[in-house]
Amino acid sequence: MPAFFAERALLATGWANNVRLEVGADGTLTQVQAEASAEGAERISGVLLPGMPNLHSHAFQRAMAGLAEVASNPNDSFWTWRELMYGMVGKLSPEQVEIIARQLYIEMLKAGYTSVAEFHYVHHDTNGQPYANPAELGLSISRAASSAGIGLTLLPVLYSHSGFGGQPPNAGQRRFIHSTDSYLDLQTRLRSALAGQSTQRLGLCFHSLRAVTAGQISDVLSAEGGSAPIHIHIAEQQKEVDDCLAWSGRRPLQWLYENVAVDNRWCLVHATHAEPDEVALMAASGAVAGLCLTTEANLGDGIFPAVGYLAQGGRFGIGSDSHVSLSVVEELRWLEYGQRLRDTRRNRLYRSDQPMIGRTVFDGALAGGAQALGQPVGGLAPGLRADWLVLDGEDPYLANAQGDALLNRWLFASSENLIRHVMVAGKWVIREGRHLEEQRTKSEFSAVLRALAA
Ligand code: ZN
Repeated sequence: MPAFFAERALLATGWANNVRLEVGADGTLTQVQAEASAEGAERISGVLLPGMPNLHSHAFQRAMAGLAEVASNPNDSFWTWRELMYGMVGKLSPEQVEIIARQLYIEMLKAGYTSVAEFHYVHHDTNGQPYANPAELGLSISRAASSAGIGLTLLPVLYSHSGFGGQPPNAGQRRFIHSTDSYLDLQTRLRSALAGQSTQRLGLCFHSLRAVTAGQISDVLSAEGGSAPIHIHIAEQQKEVDDCLAWSGRRPLQWLYENVAVDNRWCLVHATHAEPDEVALMAASGAVAGLCLTTEANLGDGIFPAVGYLAQGGRFGIGSDSHVSLSVVEELRWLEYGQRLRDTRRNRLYRSDQPMIGRTVFDGALAGGAQALGQPVGGLAPGLRADWLVLDGEDPYLANAQGDALLNRWLFASSENLIRHVMVAGKWVIREGRHLEEQRTKSEFSAVLRALAA
């Protein structure tokens, strides 16, 4: 049984020294013991931390990251960005989707994300017709995750309408559209395809309240039942809130909580525009708030009321979403900084028993991310997957910090990537900052970018 030995590690039970970790054949931790022997174990030099789940990704958007920073009118918004996104999505082939996703997932691993929830809504060919195998593009994502070696919760998205109240889809959405029946068929196909992948699972996903009707949500939930995670984009934009009010007299979160039994299976992505009563509903329900700080900043979405939410025990995780940034550090830093900028105060996200901001946001994102992915990840403890990252122990800032102060140094003061090695399910996927597939993937990805620009 492979064994590893780390001088410093953040375990589920707290910081520990001289930790021995044993990993079973399926990649699950079988034993984690502090102040243990290193005999026969592979020594890990550096600081051992649990790998971070990334709870929200649209892989293909990595290919357009940084291309939309060009002013086209004084009111550029999410909605003008979406036009550019629709332009690119109209061209992609299954091969290109797989290469972009593999490139992205390698970058994620290097950034400290060891698993990802892929909110996958591009289903059909460029004319909007189903592929011979309707699950083709979902399988591209699954293959990319396998070859990169990242854990995956694949969330095939139900997307049927262009606006509240079941409005017909527009031409830019032609590759996304499923009926409830064709969506349930897609779920069945992907479930059997993923069955043999121990680090992959399937979830349910509604694009947004704009894109599905109340009847569709209840039909899918009653057909699928079970324990799968359920994700939805909920209140990203003020216009979305206004349109929902015009349609129903309710804000998106209000409508959802009044019409659906939201529990801890749910991940509410971009609950950005949440009023205090909605924040209370979210916190009480046990759902996870899916916060995507760098994307929400990039798109000018707004700032989630995280201070009140955490004070009520609300659960959250982080996602890199449109992938303008791939950095656990940057997401967590901006989670705290957004609250500071709004409140003109320091040190906003803490708990009464935990004044260290870095530890509060890191632990919170691990737990919420694991819940949102529905996978046994998010900590170093027996029964959880051996997903971890190793920080450079010789970095002077980290070498001279202890415990939670080390997390604060890393999250709030590092300016280079200090992640040296990354393991997923007991296998090293990043060594000395490099991935085995990195060179091949870079050149294939470069060719994809050239083709898309042509
Ligand atoms: Zn999204």
